[in-house]
Amino acid sequence: MGINLKSPETQFAIEFIRNGSELARRIHAETSIRSRVKPDHSPVTFADMGVQAIAGALLEQHFPGAVLVAEEDAEFLKAPEGVEDLEKISSYVHSFFPHAKPGEIRRWIDRGQGKPAGSFWTLDPIDGTKGFLRGGQYAIALAFIHNGKVELAALGCPELELQGHKGLGKGVGIFAARGQGCWAASLDGLKESQSWVRLGVSRCREVRQARILDSFDPGHKSTEKSRLIREALGTLEDPVSMDSMAKHVVIASGDAEIFFRTLPQKEPGHREKIWDVAAGALAIEEAGGRVTDLEGRKLDFGAGVTLARNPGFLATNGFLHETVLEALRQATRV
Ligand code: AMP
Ligand code: MG
Repeated sequence: MGINLKSPETQFAIEFIRNGSELARRIHAETSIRSRVKPDHSPVTFADMGVQAIAGALLEQHFPGAVLVAEEDAEFLKAPEGVEDLEKISSYVHSFFPHAKPGEIRRWIDRGQGKPAGSFWTLDPIDGTKGFLRGGQYAIALAFIHNGKVELAALGCPELELQGHKGLGKGVGIFAARGQGCWAASLDGLKESQSWVRLGVSRCREVRQARILDSFDPGHKSTEKSRLIREALGTLEDPVSMDSMAKHVVIASGDAEIFFRTLPQKEPGHREKIWDVAAGALAIEEAGGRVTDLEGRKLDFGAGVTLARNPGFLATNGFLHETVLEALRQATRV
């Protein structure tokens, strides 16, 4: 069975990933990328804002009444010191919507300020902004959530090349729908159904052979706890550090088996934002893998803007999930 790209939700998601990735790639190719630091100390670029504006605009066309819960807001762009930035963002967005006025673009960005409801879309316009700035991995990530479960996921990973699917080249789009599998295509060929290949997780059952992915940023994990867990697992290879939900795509494609996010020592109460996890989680599950929190519980996307009931994150190819949970228990006992 091939991929079914016919539903209106799928068409919207794919059109967004295609346009959003194109905008991100264009800014990424510039010699210097400007960024600003948000109140939570994380960076934001014109790409984060521009991609979110495109999502808001396309959503308005396809599903005018739909709710969007997204990472960015246009607050800064409303202040006098944000005028220049808004002009710059508008110049990028004009390649896709040539007649959009600055006020309209601000409104498209702020469409992402919706509140989680029974059914809604969630978006991280640029997941891994630090990776984006550093020339590492980043992802454009959109998901549809219904009654606390992720039903549809679409990701653009412009810098990613899948080792098991080298024919797709660098820059892949991912689509997953509950019960319909996880699929990948070159970002240049997202529209044609024949260009999609089905992804499946690795069959590895030998934990010592497993390949582990790790968050790049030391502030996003407990480095010490993560080391203890790897020690308990006895894996032979060093973990591969990577920014963003590109990690989830790598697990879904079978290029690695394990990714966990431990809670940072300084912030043991940290909970993931839904837009940082939703799309990647469904991609892994639909590729045959498993995702839970660090205690082995299912992820509950119906608890608001964060995964309030789920500490940390664990994704595996499924076969190794219980083994890693046991290693996690061992590592927390010491
Ligand atoms: P990385 O996995 O290295 O790309 O880091 C980006 C992700 O880290 C974000 O998308 C969040 O899921 C997560 N994150 C952000 N802030 C924190 C934090 N204070 N503690 C733990 N994880 C975080
Ligand atoms: Mg993010």
